[in-house]
Amino acid sequence: MNQQVLLEVKHLKKYFQLGKQETLKAVDDVSFQIFKGETFGIVGESGCGKSTAGRTIIGLYDRTEGEVIFDGKNVHTLKEKEKYAFYRQMQMIFQDPYASLNPRSTVMEIISEPMEVHGLYRKKQEKVQRVYELLEDVGLNRDHANRYPHEFSGGQRQRIGIARALALDPKFIIADEPISALDVSVQAQVVNLLKRLQKEKGLTFLFIAHDLSMVKQISDRIGVMYLGNLVELTTSSQLYKRPLHPYTQALLSANPIPDPDVEDSRERIILKGELPSPINPPSGCVFRTRCPHAMEVCGQKKPIWQEEDAHHFVACHLYNKEIMAGKDYSQTAASK
Ligand code: SF4
Repeated sequence: MNQQVLLEVKHLKKYFQLGKQETLKAVDDVSFQIFKGETFGIVGESGCGKSTAGRTIIGLYDRTEGEVIFDGKNVHTLKEKEKYAFYRQMQMIFQDPYASLNPRSTVMEIISEPMEVHGLYRKKQEKVQRVYELLEDVGLNRDHANRYPHEFSGGQRQRIGIARALALDPKFIIADEPISALDVSVQAQVVNLLKRLQKEKGLTFLFIAHDLSMVKQISDRIGVMYLGNLVELTTSSQLYKRPLHPYTQALLSANPIPDPDVEDSRERIILKGELPSPINPPSGCVFRTRCPHAMEVCGQKKPIWQEEDAHHFVACHLYNKEIMAGKDYSQTAASK
């Protein structure tokens, strides 16, 4: 891969202080790069820190540690003047389109608001024309401009949210569970719309979701998160062909396959227990309390982030040759 990096996340941490004693480690040392023009998916169970990571990247939350470099600039140390230009380039689409759209504003007001904040299209007619164009871009039409959010279906409201995110002509969009609140029949339409817009406008996406099948459809590469940590990262096809991390293997085994013969012969990996609290995460490997391959060393050492195959990264002791050289490998052979 020889692509240009648009966004680089380096050792990002986001902790929330809960009273004097407790710290919630929502994002705990996460690093990855996103290339220009690609869709990078982040997947994981609810509570794994993926949305907090997205919000920290765009600057909605201040980071605890680490860096976010966008187009060569550190997002968290921008001067006031630079912030305006930055927010034009990076926009967000939210999970619940109804909650993110002001119910008292018309679609025209909702979509044109960012243009007004940034002083674009000072002539009213230009602004109106731009809103019409954006509505058409997302599969709506100009007649929708004078209506209110409650007059639309969930899918149409998400289209309005997408049009608003596009209003400033951004380079990069963080889509935070943009289809989870929609009916299954509408989800594919919104995914197809995002794909089309990406192609037409040369956009780069960070697509956050808990549903692996949808993430696969849209993403070039996927990062898997568990309890604030990135545990695996590779291309979308490689992740499905050869998942390495026991957590990814479990997530994929729970994903139905349309072929009934393959589906019947598959082995399901049922994870025991609940996601532990990020206030008091397990020592060593954070997945060890639910991992079917956990070894003694997993409670003592945090696994290193290593490149197991070309462009295929994983954090698990099973792939650490030094650690495994001293172990009985037979108990873990089935996972390879
Ligand atoms: Fe399982 Fe140990 Fe690998 Fe963690 S490091 S995923 S507990 S085998």
